[in-house]
Amino acid sequence: MRVAIAGAGLAGLSCAKYLCDAGHVPIVLEARDVLGGKVAAWQDEDGDWYETGLHIFFGAYRNMRQLIGELNIEDRLQWKSHSMIFNQKEVPGTYSRFDFPDLPAPLNGLAAILGNNDMLTWPEKIAFGIGLVPAILRGQSYVEECDQYSWSEWLALHNIPERVNDEVFLAMSKALNFINPDEISSTVVLTALNRFLQETDGSKMAFLDGNPPERLCQPIVDYVRAHGGEVHLDSPLREIQLAADGRVAGFRIGGIKGKEPQQIQADAYVSAMPVDPLKLLLPEAWKELPYFSKLDGLIGVPVINIHLWFDRKLTEIDHLLFSRSDLLSVYADMSNTCREYEDPNKSMLELVFAPAKDWIGRPDAEIVAATLEELKRLFPMHFNGDDQARLLKSKVVKTPQSVYKTVPGCQQLRPDQASPIPNFFLAGCFTMQRYLASMEGAVLSGKLCAEAVSRSSSGQPGASSQAAMAVV
Ligand SMILES: Cc1cc2nc3c(=O)[nH]c(=O)nc-3n(C[C@H](O)[C@H](O)[C@H](O)COP(=O)(O)OP(=O)(O)OC[C@H]3O[C@@H](n4cnc5c(N)ncnc54)[C@H](O)[C@@H]3O)c2cc1C
Repeated sequence: MRVAIAGAGLAGLSCAKYLCDAGHVPIVLEARDVLGGKVAAWQDEDGDWYETGLHIFFGAYRNMRQLIGELNIEDRLQWKSHSMIFNQKEVPGTYSRFDFPDLPAPLNGLAAILGNNDMLTWPEKIAFGIGLVPAILRGQSYVEECDQYSWSEWLALHNIPERVNDEVFLAMSKALNFINPDEISSTVVLTALNRFLQETDGSKMAFLDGNPPERLCQPIVDYVRAHGGEVHLDSPLREIQLAADGRVAGFRIGGIKGKEPQQIQADAYVSAMPVDPLKLLLPEAWKELPYFSKLDGLIGVPVINIHLWFDRKLTEIDHLLFSRSDLLSVYADMSNTCREYEDPNKSMLELVFAPAKDWIGRPDAEIVAATLEELKRLFPMHFNGDDQARLLKSKVVKTPQSVYKTVPGCQQLRPDQASPIPNFFLAGCFTMQRYLASMEGAVLSGKLCAEAVSRSSSGQPGASSQAAMAVV
């Protein structure tokens, strides 16, 4: 089958890869001139890379790791020590670590939590441990039921002190979805905790060894092309055209940068666009269908990614850091963590600025100035006194609608990869799959979508991803 796919983020590319494996011919059409969507990156005038987001790969990302293995690029993941490192609020410039010993799960996670006495007191650890018992005993069905509560509400229901939120989950919630614990669904936090506690290497982290478009997306494109598929940049989907029987008759692709507009005809059609542009392109006739009307409740959350180049080394830490700052989420010194960005003498901090709702419309200079103020707490030794670190340059990348905002009640709105239209399918991290709005979720959604397309080609109805999830 010929399958047209709109969007060359990780979901669209993974869908194309697995369609090739199933013997189909994907044609990927990407609106922008860069691969990767939310993992896209660009080079500045000095040749330095800047990215849409600081991206971490977790040990729990089984589908991503399988894909990377199938592409023979495992050596591009730079695994870090099995730890989580938080800035200490009360003692600027110092860190508190959760170190996972070499024990099977959940013992390594429990040892990491029990071994950290900086952030949680023993009564807090015990109250939290008791709160987690239903999640441990009842698993994912309990986790899904908890989608009615925000994380702050869930903690209150289990009599867990608010301080636990301030100490640990403010940072985790911002890292997971760029919002605070009073907004985020408890399903999201419990899903992450479950993965981290149930899989021995679940919380182990890796950085890609360079810019994602070249180091991660291009190998997928090469694979797709080698198997007879096509990938086209600068090819925005402008209209989903319908046939008289209600099926998709074609994709109308806009002509930009001197290219002619095109009509793409295929046997099946996939949207691997984010949910916000997809909603704008839905044909009028589909909007009343509950499958599509539910998408109105899924809305991209704003986030800002900041890059700061300094005249010296600010830290030697080769890991992700949880800032525990009101303005910032996680950050890393990419000159230590990423081979392509390596510099033995100068730091390049990449920092996620979240929640970004009140900042997304402000000028870059204001955002950088606010971030530098925060750095005085994170690196007091470099931003006080006579010989202060000097900012050489900065880049700010704003994403006004990034992954969908995972507020309570969203789980039931997430669509299956098979739509009610027999030849139209969805991929994207917002679609239903057991991982969150993440790179792993995007890759898995693409794989599930390819399976749904294949099932439809063999005359089987597009079975739900819930059934497919059982085999992933
Ligand atoms: C700041 C930030 C930090 C993040 N950190 C992490 C992390 O540490 N770990 C993690 O796992 N995940 C992280 N994520 C989330 C992760 O990047 C996403 O979940 C994932 O990349 C989404 O992939 P996708 O393919 O579903 O969507 P996208 O990447 O958004 O891809 C959709 C593609 O569709 C294209 N498109 C849009 N409209 C059209 C059109 N009309 N025609 C054709 N194409 C179109 C877009 O240009 C884009 O290329 C982060 C995201 C951000 C923004």
